[in-house]
Amino acid sequence: MRVLVALGGNAMTAPDGGARQQDQVAAITRAMESVADLVAAGADVAVTHGNGPQVGNLLAKNELAAATLPAVTLDWCGAQTQGTIGFSVLNALDDALRARGVARRTAAVVTRTLVRGDDPGFANPTKPVGGYLPESRARELIGRGQSWRDCGPLGWRRVVPSPDPVEVIDAPAVSALADAGFVVVSGGGGGIPVVRDGGRLRGVEAVIDKDLAAALLARTLGADVLVIATDVEHAVLGYGTPDARPLGTVTVSELRRHAEEGHFAGGSMGPKVEATCRFVEGGGTRAVITSLGHITHAARGAAVGTIVVPDQVVSVVPDQVVSTGGRD
Ligand code: ADP
Ligand code: MG
Repeated sequence: MRVLVALGGNAMTAPDGGARQQDQVAAITRAMESVADLVAAGADVAVTHGNGPQVGNLLAKNELAAATLPAVTLDWCGAQTQGTIGFSVLNALDDALRARGVARRTAAVVTRTLVRGDDPGFANPTKPVGGYLPESRARELIGRGQSWRDCGPLGWRRVVPSPDPVEVIDAPAVSALADAGFVVVSGGGGGIPVVRDGGRLRGVEAVIDKDLAAALLARTLGADVLVIATDVEHAVLGYGTPDARPLGTVTVSELRRHAEEGHFAGGSMGPKVEATCRFVEGGGTRAVITSLGHITHAARGAAVGTIVVPDQVVSVVPDQVVSTGGRD
């Protein structure tokens, strides 16, 4: 069984959101205990991860160093985070696998994700990145072609496009390594966004949603299960209200209906729900949203989490009830 585990920000930062180097290493070390348990249980595991706080740190450094060193573009920042997070994940995962007596090699792949140059996201940047700046400095950067938005008392913040992922360019390399037995880390931060420019690929200043990219990567790798590990145990209906109801096993159609009713916030649970639907509609066996500590059981379809299955899996149940002459 091939499982793609997508790790959220909480797997890479301290519980209070701290993103110092030691916070990141400690969080990744904890997360790799869970991933190694899944590998030790016999699953063929691949890993992907977010990079929001890390990319934010790099953008802030750019800003602080601007008078001395030329700033680099967001695609470079994304590539840098894939390198440092990948490195830290490999070290932690190797240790956790060794501690369990599992002789599996690990690898990390710098991964580009293709987006369309005419994606509507480019005309309407919405994804906030990096820190806050005073209006005067933000206006200077707007003059250089960036988009910044007034975020109230804290100041202005840069916004970038969040185009839909179309193709994971480096998926064949990830597949080859996975087929050879490596536990592969790839697609970090949703992948480095690139567009086709004539015959060439060119990096663009955008951020691809890591959950949507994970769904695409999971399909491309032929994964049976997509596990989205985050800081809540379920997708919840009526989240934050007295009527809150956690979702257990749910079909794609039911989940899409709940999404249309507005139960899942954009930018957090919304894209996770969309990613699970896309993965299962595309032929995946099941997709799970759960917290990190539950991924081993979740991957097997048991225990805690929101488990998204194809429509036909559950529609069998009422038929059985009818055919056995049971109650209505
Ligand atoms: P990650 O960093 O793992 O990608 P996010 O912060 O983006 O995690 O998304 C998880 C968050 O989504 C939860 O901490 C929760 O606050 C929020 N959320 C919004 N709507 C819902 C919902 N309907 N059910 C559960 N969580 C929700
Ligand atoms: Mg997040």
